[in-house]
Amino acid sequence: MNILVAGGAGFIGSHVVDRLLRRTDFELLVVVDNLWTGLQSNLAHIRDDRMKFVKSDVEVFNSELRFDEIYHFASPASPPWFIAEPARTISANIRGAFRLRELLARGGQFAFTSTSEVYGDPLVSPQPESYRGSVDCTGPRSSYDESKRCTESFLFEMSRTEGMRIKVVRLFNVFGPRTRPNDGRAVSNFLTRALRGDPIVVYGDGSQSRSWGYIDDIIDALERYFWLDGINFSGPLNIGNNREISVIDVALYVQSLFPQVEIQFGPPVAQDPTNRCPDLTRARQVLPGWHCKVSYEIGIGLTLDWFRKVGMSQGAGRANLPNKEI
Ligand code: UDP
Repeated sequence: MNILVAGGAGFIGSHVVDRLLRRTDFELLVVVDNLWTGLQSNLAHIRDDRMKFVKSDVEVFNSELRFDEIYHFASPASPPWFIAEPARTISANIRGAFRLRELLARGGQFAFTSTSEVYGDPLVSPQPESYRGSVDCTGPRSSYDESKRCTESFLFEMSRTEGMRIKVVRLFNVFGPRTRPNDGRAVSNFLTRALRGDPIVVYGDGSQSRSWGYIDDIIDALERYFWLDGINFSGPLNIGNNREISVIDVALYVQSLFPQVEIQFGPPVAQDPTNRCPDLTRARQVLPGWHCKVSYEIGIGLTLDWFRKVGMSQGAGRANLPNKEI
């Protein structure tokens, strides 16, 4: 049995790879990653010979093998990165999904990490999977939002017309160890700036909210849904923390850990969603007993420890600019 993880050197992907390697029922796990937003250091601790790393764009990855399980995580997820390279973002998601489908063994399972961004700037809260969203298909976030939406469409249609076995999750904000220091998202920016003694910059007035899920809780859900619990449900499935916290509250919490660090206010980000919170009714049915156990306060402490010990030197020297070559 062969497994392929596209985007397996990234933040989410590398944690899933770690969990996959606990299994004993496969021979080969191929990680395909172009190291655009992923980092090879996220896999450097792995000593398992079943894991093979291939540096390649997912769209052009070539193999004679067919894979029994495919995980499509190959996409930037942070706004400054996908806004800077929209064509590449659209290609990774959509063309990546087309390519990976060709590599799926007959009867194999295709898993995809979609996003709460499919709900755009939501007009209902919390957002159930049935909410169709409020996305501007010509807006600055559309490369990410619409390519995730279109890939969902592609997969659900392949499931409907060809019987492809799919599993689609919609991840809400996730933070934790293995986020790049220059990832550009709120928690990583606040922590890395505070560690450098720089002011924390809140975009807009900070009243916009998110639901911040700590990585280990999110990976617990993915592991159960994708393989552990033997679930036969295509999704989409919201996965996230349903404790909704404003950005200014996160900034104030980080400041409470670094009292000398100032909070500044920067211009609002265009079309920044005002709120985001998962309706977890379906997750509770599909994954009984699962919930996010790590509060954002504890999670921020754990992430801070990791940045202190490891993270600050990873992918360093690229100061908030997407790198085209590594
Ligand atoms: N944000 C901020 N300062 C930063 C980075 C992000 O105020 O240094 C805000 C951002 O505008 C958004 C929220 O924090 O309202 C969450 O942003 P993030 O990039 O983490 O996630 P996403 O926008 O994808 O939900």
